[in-house]
Amino acid sequence: MTTETIRASETPAEGKSSLALYLHIPFCTSKCGYCDFNSYEGLDHVVPDYTPALIHEMELWAPAAKNYRVDTIFFGGGTPSLTSIDDMRILADALREQYDISPDVEWTLEANPTELTREHLEGLRGIGVNRLSMGVQSMHPDELELLEREHTPERVAQAVADARAAGFDNLNLDLIFGLIGHSMERWQSTLEQVIAFQPEHLSCYALTVEPGTALYYRVQKGQLEEPDPDLAAEQYDWTRERLAAAGYQQYEISNWAKPGRACRHNLVYWRAEPYLGMGAGAHSFFIGRRMANVDSPTRYVEAVNQSYEERQASGTGRAELRQVAGGEVPDEVTLRADAMILGLRLLDGVRTEDFRARFGVSVDDAFGPALQRHESLGLIERTADRVRLTERGLLLANEVFVDLLPDPD
Ligand code: SF4
Repeated sequence: MTTETIRASETPAEGKSSLALYLHIPFCTSKCGYCDFNSYEGLDHVVPDYTPALIHEMELWAPAAKNYRVDTIFFGGGTPSLTSIDDMRILADALREQYDISPDVEWTLEANPTELTREHLEGLRGIGVNRLSMGVQSMHPDELELLEREHTPERVAQAVADARAAGFDNLNLDLIFGLIGHSMERWQSTLEQVIAFQPEHLSCYALTVEPGTALYYRVQKGQLEEPDPDLAAEQYDWTRERLAAAGYQQYEISNWAKPGRACRHNLVYWRAEPYLGMGAGAHSFFIGRRMANVDSPTRYVEAVNQSYEERQASGTGRAELRQVAGGEVPDEVTLRADAMILGLRLLDGVRTEDFRARFGVSVDDAFGPALQRHESLGLIERTADRVRLTERGLLLANEVFVDLLPDPD
């Protein structure tokens, strides 16, 4: 695929469509034991070349995005808060120069409490970041140690206070329940302490032991027990009740927000709308294609720079997008399944008329037998205008989703 192909045929002809931008910063000071994200420790030597490579990738994609308005920007990782304010300012300037950024853009940055200083937070606000997503995970030191997180509960409290003082009025805190050796009381204690910070948004995920992680090997060797799924289910049920009582609306399986504070960027993913990812390992669903960049930060920098130089040298504005490691144009059956599975993650579920308008078939024509089966099992329910997960279905969502996947060829 070349930049020329994209420019010539695939941008909307008239008007501006909405676009979400994701920028991946893959560096961390140390790798947490449970983490299977595309993140790396010990790559300090790549950092100086990474910001210029991101700017080159922005320039390569900019012609394809010229008829889009960017409504959300999300710097994820990795640990984006490790990026210096000088580099953040360079990236922000390049984004504003190359893309049409909406005046009311939601601009999120993922952060670790460890390195968040008041000065850094004020710098982020100054360049336009207006939402902070902080990885808290637990408010107990021994649990943070189990997860190999570097921060302390005291550091979390200080980072939240500093973020407020710096002017952040849209704060998400990430938490993990269902920890190994956990108890209901300890989870309740973490959640109560975090509610007291009054964040606008909370993401609560059950611990999963992912193959390839340090935690996985410790469990495999018998050094640690498996997490208890029954305890995680009880904690999840209690979390739903407690957060509702505290004024949070659950809008997705793992996400709660004060009214009007749902994450606009993540809603783009769950509504299967277009997003453009840049950076090592970033994924996109853009111009009708699904794409993934190469995972390795070193390889990413080399590939983007090569594409950029080829484009400059050609004098035609044309270049291979060498950082894109894989891509496909999903067929209609795959697009329907994506829209259904992602949409069912939302508590509102899928509006049947919207589905028909988008795909030209009803949800029953597309998924009839699977929907009937899971309705009879009590995992999904139908209302006059939508299909959605039941309370029980929220806990067992993967059983529904697996049944909605297209048959393999
Ligand atoms: S800080 Fe986040 S991205 Fe980095 S290793 Fe830990 S969990 Fe993974």
